[in-house]
Amino acid sequence: MTQIFNFSAGPAVLPKEVLQQAADEMLDWHGSGMSVMEMSHRGPEFISIYQQAVHDLRELLNVPDNYRILFLQGGGLAQNAVIPMNMVGRNAQPATIDFVHTGSWSGKSIKEAARYANVNVAASAEAGQFTSVPHQESWKLTRDASYLHICTNETIDGVEFNFVPTVQGDTPIVADMSSHILSRVIDVSKYGVIFAGAQKNIGPAGLTLAIVREDLIGHALPICPSAFDWKLVADADSMYNTPPTYGIYIAGLVFAHLKRQGGVAEIEKRNIAKAELLYAALDADDFYQNRVAQDCRSRMNVPFYLRDESLNEQFLAGAKARGLLQLKGHKSVGGMRASIYNAMSIDGVQSLVDYLNEFAGR
Ligand code: PMP
Repeated sequence: MTQIFNFSAGPAVLPKEVLQQAADEMLDWHGSGMSVMEMSHRGPEFISIYQQAVHDLRELLNVPDNYRILFLQGGGLAQNAVIPMNMVGRNAQPATIDFVHTGSWSGKSIKEAARYANVNVAASAEAGQFTSVPHQESWKLTRDASYLHICTNETIDGVEFNFVPTVQGDTPIVADMSSHILSRVIDVSKYGVIFAGAQKNIGPAGLTLAIVREDLIGHALPICPSAFDWKLVADADSMYNTPPTYGIYIAGLVFAHLKRQGGVAEIEKRNIAKAELLYAALDADDFYQNRVAQDCRSRMNVPFYLRDESLNEQFLAGAKARGLLQLKGHKSVGGMRASIYNAMSIDGVQSLVDYLNEFAGR
């Protein structure tokens, strides 16, 4: 059978070992006689799964003690509303939120936040069709903004921040890390809030992660649904309502797997090698084109175009025949996209590179 490599942007490839372990434990978790899906979230079995997952994530990302790790639902998109509802209450109303518009996902965040606060687009890469992160010197930040929101990896546009912004005063930075969390070493202490949907580098869709600095908790607006009020969720250890238990379990297996691989620093090295290999192949001649500025190219999501777009269908069919799946670009931008998350092996990237070379040669 042809080996399959799945380049989906999300839900995305997960480590084989994790899926195998989940399969082995599906009917009977550790002799409990139950599947994790059947366990009470208040029982000792699930509590131990939850605690281990939080512990391992804290270790992997070196999360300082004054940050809470929250497991929520609603995906990254719900966070676009949940975050303003939890944060703007700290400020005189109407509050202003600063944004840097670097692509589709930050664009959605701006739109949603405008329902709860004034939004200031401090900088935008739209004129360049979202192929770069605007230089920080050009940003027009608001004094006393409630917070600054950035999307540190734009999944559709393939643009990744390679720096942490400097902010005025104590304005917290909120970062949407949905599509590159755990792919590179980060300094959590530089951010007020980090959030991510799980379905790329963490686990199954349906689980949403928020890492929130403690002093930002406890300011929810009265309109904030209680299930999304960080204070209620944090005080209940993410069990204010029934959490996505199976998602947390799989996330925990992924975290343990990452630790066995040597942690985030080691994974980052592999991710750099994978990205270099793929971009080098795309840059080798002008048959393919990645339009993102070199220093902002995402290590996780690599959009590219064929010079002759009439060959798109042929390209995709040939890729599929080789076991290289889900390479079609997002419908809003067309072309191709290879997502090479943590669980994509260098062999998978090499197979894609071999195919790119062969197809261009033909
Ligand atoms: N932010 C980013 C960077 C994303 O890639 C996505 C989903 N692809 C979202 C937010 C939205 O996440 P969800 O679909 O889980 O709501």
